[in-house]
Amino acid sequence: MNLQTEINELFVKQQDEWEQLKKAIEQLDKIREKEFSWGDTFTVRVQFNPARMTSTAAKTDKEAVEKRPCFLCETNRPLLQRGVPFLGKYSILCNPFPILRNHVTIPIHSHVPQRIRNKTGDILTLTEELPDYIVFYNGPKCGASAPDHFHLQAGLKTSLLLQGDNALRSCLTIESENRKETEELFEDVYQYLRHCQPEEEEPMMNVIAFTEENKYKLHLYPRRAHRPRHYYEEGSRQLLISPGALDMAGLIISVREEDFDKIERQDIEEIYSQVSMPVI
Ligand SMILES: [Zn+2]
Repeated sequence: MNLQTEINELFVKQQDEWEQLKKAIEQLDKIREKEFSWGDTFTVRVQFNPARMTSTAAKTDKEAVEKRPCFLCETNRPLLQRGVPFLGKYSILCNPFPILRNHVTIPIHSHVPQRIRNKTGDILTLTEELPDYIVFYNGPKCGASAPDHFHLQAGLKTSLLLQGDNALRSCLTIESENRKETEELFEDVYQYLRHCQPEEEEPMMNVIAFTEENKYKLHLYPRRAHRPRHYYEEGSRQLLISPGALDMAGLIISVREEDFDKIERQDIEEIYSQVSMPVI
């Protein structure tokens, strides 16, 4: 059985036995969204998704992370959550707080920090086995709510999530039919970004990976801030938005209705300019 079929079957089974997941997926059908366009070139969709509050408001500083039980370690996962094994070292799990159709979280078995270097091979294998999906990575300071446990995510592809570079934020595209070349190009870009942010343990980035027309494609979003200024404002000026890979691609998650109602084009432009790192 191929991996996509296995995941489809996992979703069917898990919705039968895990009420919380079933409700969360039903909720996704009723979710409110609104769109903004910049000419014909770029669209941003804002999704009102209150179930993402825990993730958006997650404290990811070292102290807070060390104090809480890691929710990606097998012993702390929901009792009803089952997984599909991948490469003998990952579990593919239905995400109980979905943003996308067939949204899965893919933690590695061991409790090791969120670092992408040397994981590109695993990412490319996933994109080969999941041609209908995007696979995405949030750096430890770029939207990952578990910066202490390596994990990837994936969900069904939509054209909105495949948008490349545009005037609002940077996106570096790596594209090749050759797997080895893709990995080497990623390493080159990684080293360049590392040079730009020598103080960071890992250059700040989000990555969206997929296959298209028999090519591997990686969209890298270099970052200069974890969260925009709006996140830290108070009262009516605050917008509780904590961008990850999907937000950088063009799907912005708003966890509070008041933010969803008031967010405007200018806020979106400001958010991108604050968190995205310009590259030459
Ligand atoms: Zn863990």
